[in-house]
Amino acid sequence: MSKTSEIMDVYKAKMMPTYAPAAVIASGKGVTVSYPEGLMLYDFTSGIGVQSVGHCHPKVVKAIQDQAATLTHCSNLFANEPAVRLADKLVEISGLDGKVFFCNSGAEANEAAIKLARKWGAANGGRYEVVTFRQGFHGRTLATVAATGQAWCQEGYDPLPVGFAYADYNDIESVKAAVGEKAVAIMLEAVQGEGGVNPATPEFMSAVRALCDEKNLLMICDEVQSGIGRTGTWFAWQGYGVKPDLFTCAKALGGGLPMGALVASAKFADVFTPSSHASTFGGNPVAAAAALAVIDVIEEEGLLENAKAMGEKFKEMLEEFADKYDKLLDVRGKGLMLGLVTEGEAKDVVEALRAQGVLALTAGAHVVRFLPPLTISEGDLGEVQDMMSDAFGCVFGE
Ligand SMILES: *Cc1c(COP(=O)(O)O)cnc(C)c1O
Repeated sequence: MSKTSEIMDVYKAKMMPTYAPAAVIASGKGVTVSYPEGLMLYDFTSGIGVQSVGHCHPKVVKAIQDQAATLTHCSNLFANEPAVRLADKLVEISGLDGKVFFCNSGAEANEAAIKLARKWGAANGGRYEVVTFRQGFHGRTLATVAATGQAWCQEGYDPLPVGFAYADYNDIESVKAAVGEKAVAIMLEAVQGEGGVNPATPEFMSAVRALCDEKNLLMICDEVQSGIGRTGTWFAWQGYGVKPDLFTCAKALGGGLPMGALVASAKFADVFTPSSHASTFGGNPVAAAAALAVIDVIEEEGLLENAKAMGEKFKEMLEEFADKYDKLLDVRGKGLMLGLVTEGEAKDVVEALRAQGVLALTAGAHVVRFLPPLTISEGDLGEVQDMMSDAFGCVFGE
């Protein structure tokens, strides 16, 4: 029996079927991962937007090892230096002159944002409703599932927390219609990830900001997928010339360790007061040390610039494929967050790509999503181009 089938058998017997893993990954290095049997693949998912500096980057590994041997946890009854330095760094790179709350995941960061908005709203007109978007995605806790305006992730979980209203993305009139008397915030992704890799238009982002100013609402950007350099700026909203009041990040922040953050501008920096919100592992020193290393690597290796440059090259390559195959309808996205729209099932394309050695994701039924590490080179793209060519040949015929 192979190692893979041995692990998969126990998986099927003992792990809840929330996921349907296609295979077992045993190790990762740079832009590649390997099966237990040794076969290597290009990871153009970055482990769903997490390994943005590549798998096992030596600087991230070293930071984790050093901190693990020094202090792994001390409770939030005490301050720890890596978390404090990370907060300082996040405020600096965001240019939001505010403060940070640390947690462990994207959903938890969004929960914190929703709670902060409600706490502020309670004291400012008794308002609590958060306007979110159909096709948006904010996580899997009850409140973030309610914030995610999509039936597929809400089904079976009634009653969901109340206090959410839904609008259509890139349609400011529908947002205006959704903002009622009790509205306190508008929460959105500057580039929607799970919902199909949809970038906001610049006009829409500006109009949301203006509406928030006019109605005294918090603008909350969910940067869990698009943040930490993915779109060529530290945070996707920075590519639009607007500033949110709150933003959240997670996924790529911890370089593979669980780490989430809520960042608030100065106006909202002290809405949470002692004991009004907490998380046992929030700001964990090892995760914070890893995050500091991730940010260092992005700065030292010029990865924001690389995400822009490689993003353009990769987009051109995908557009060439879309020109060649009738069943590839469109290419969209920003930086290294790209979607390829297919007429048929995206999962069939993802499966064919994996068979050729490239990992990709779906984003809804008809979008193949690519989130490669920000470290990819032209050489990597060349290799992947050949593999993709073979995969598309298999799915669509020559
Ligand atoms: C993945 C994701 C989340 C949820 O993050 P978890 O760490 O899985 O809780 C929230 N928002 C966006 C935009 C995401 O892509």
